[in-house]
Amino acid sequence: MAQTRSLTPDGARADAHIAVDNPATGAVVGHVADASAQDVEQAVARARQAQPGWAELSARSRAEFFTRGRRWLLTHRQEIIDSIVAENGKTQEDAIVEIVYGVSAFAHWAKRARHYLADTKIRSLSPFVLGRSMYTRRVPLGVVGVIGPWNNPLINSFGDAIPALAAGNAVVLKPSEYTPLTALLMEKMTRECGWPKDVFQVVTGAGATGQALVDTADFVMFTGSTKTGRAVAARAGERLVPCSLELGGKDALIVLADASLERAVNVTLHGALCNGGQMCTSVERVYVEEPVYDAFVARLRRRFEEVTSGRSAGLGSTDVGAMTFPPQMSIVEDHVKDAVGRGARVLVGGHTAPGPGRFFEPTLLVDVDHTMTCMREETFGPTLPVMKVANAEEAVRLVNDSTYGLQASIISSNMKRARHLAERLEAGCVTINDAQTNYMAFGLPMGGWKESGLGVRHGAEGIRKYTRLQAVSVNRFPTRRDLHMLPFDPSAYRSILRLVDLMYGNRLRRRGK
Ligand code: NDP
Repeated sequence: MAQTRSLTPDGARADAHIAVDNPATGAVVGHVADASAQDVEQAVARARQAQPGWAELSARSRAEFFTRGRRWLLTHRQEIIDSIVAENGKTQEDAIVEIVYGVSAFAHWAKRARHYLADTKIRSLSPFVLGRSMYTRRVPLGVVGVIGPWNNPLINSFGDAIPALAAGNAVVLKPSEYTPLTALLMEKMTRECGWPKDVFQVVTGAGATGQALVDTADFVMFTGSTKTGRAVAARAGERLVPCSLELGGKDALIVLADASLERAVNVTLHGALCNGGQMCTSVERVYVEEPVYDAFVARLRRRFEEVTSGRSAGLGSTDVGAMTFPPQMSIVEDHVKDAVGRGARVLVGGHTAPGPGRFFEPTLLVDVDHTMTCMREETFGPTLPVMKVANAEEAVRLVNDSTYGLQASIISSNMKRARHLAERLEAGCVTINDAQTNYMAFGLPMGGWKESGLGVRHGAEGIRKYTRLQAVSVNRFPTRRDLHMLPFDPSAYRSILRLVDLMYGNRLRRRGK
């Protein structure tokens, strides 16, 4: 990724653009505009114009547009896969996961949005609101700004736009400057599917473009690093607009002594290495109960040795793709170096692979502990530290010894024990005998605790966050004057006190409180 800017004679920026490279080859695969704050303001203003018409459509009509979108995604799947692979460097298989997510998300929100957003009748037991009919309704916020990262150019960007649109908002999406091409394909999709103009727009650019979107949108959906997430939340706080943050993770997996080791190894290997380990929900540390530690590590080592890494040239050509974000290479390298320097052993891999392209060898580390960076900070690469623990108690303590709390997993054949332990883990998503399933379960909220984020995607809360709640109270049988109204009538207030005493005081006295 390189930026080229030229200035007009009066100093204004003209045709500033960003070159997008293929991390697996180093070749430039496209150029996109570097949108200025003014460009963002204009896009948001157009979205604001378009939004009321979109909100006025019934949920069913909006779902119709989603159906067209879903068909477009399926018809153009190879074009989208090629775009994802070219700009991100991942394998074709990892790109297919994004297509599956996209079509499933369209189908899910088309079907469920109406239900999640339906008016809710409220009952109140208070005698002071007797006779009122009350309900809450969900009102779209207006223009939702979605800011996406580079690890999943479709899922974490357009994927978050779908429920926002389903709730009647317009969306302006700022994809990562490293992977903006697939987002632009989605904009093309909306045009070719006849979506109302400006309901979904993409502004391409770097951090400043994202910042400008935070400065203008009515809600910000951000996925990325905890550091930038904090800045986004602080700015949203200044403007008093809500935001939802899906940030980093240091996701842990516990292997209990009663686990099927075959399953444990398969879940660990896939959880750690799919998408090159560049997932917020990647398995980034493993704790194994002492009785099965040696057997588990021996099997995992064999599997790590079999994993291939390199440029994807079709299905089955490679297991692990490129490192998308250039600075990520040195982060991964530093984590391995730091671990080795503090006594860890590298069983497999451990080095940057020779070019062309950016690749890091799938790496298995043992003899690790919590003094090492690789056990505490997000690595976001194809490396995995495995630690022996005396028992499950120690594993739970170590899992919770983290500033992050996105996802944690337990592999066990004893469901009662596993569930009991799972509920003690400080993570927003917990899986038993799986890792990462929450991401594809659209009915299940997915979000992080602690420094892993605020709010959730998916589930009822994953669409309701894109709305404002309006509470409506209707007095269907209004009298001329209520008891408590001005001018004050002492006898009326004595009656009110008697009523309160009758309802709350006597009952409490009876219970001796
Ligand atoms: P960032 O959090 O900096 O970037 C995420 C998105 O925010 C990008 O679109 C970025 O634009 C944009 N952005 C950057 N600065 C601002 C700002 N001030 N206001 C608004 N938007 C902004 O992540 P990085 O790409 O720098 O990756 C750093 C680390 O984040 C990784 O090492 C990894 O640990 C973690 N990460 C976590 C992800 C997750 O899924 N939770 C995904 C990706 C990374 P641009 O990219 O154009 O600069």
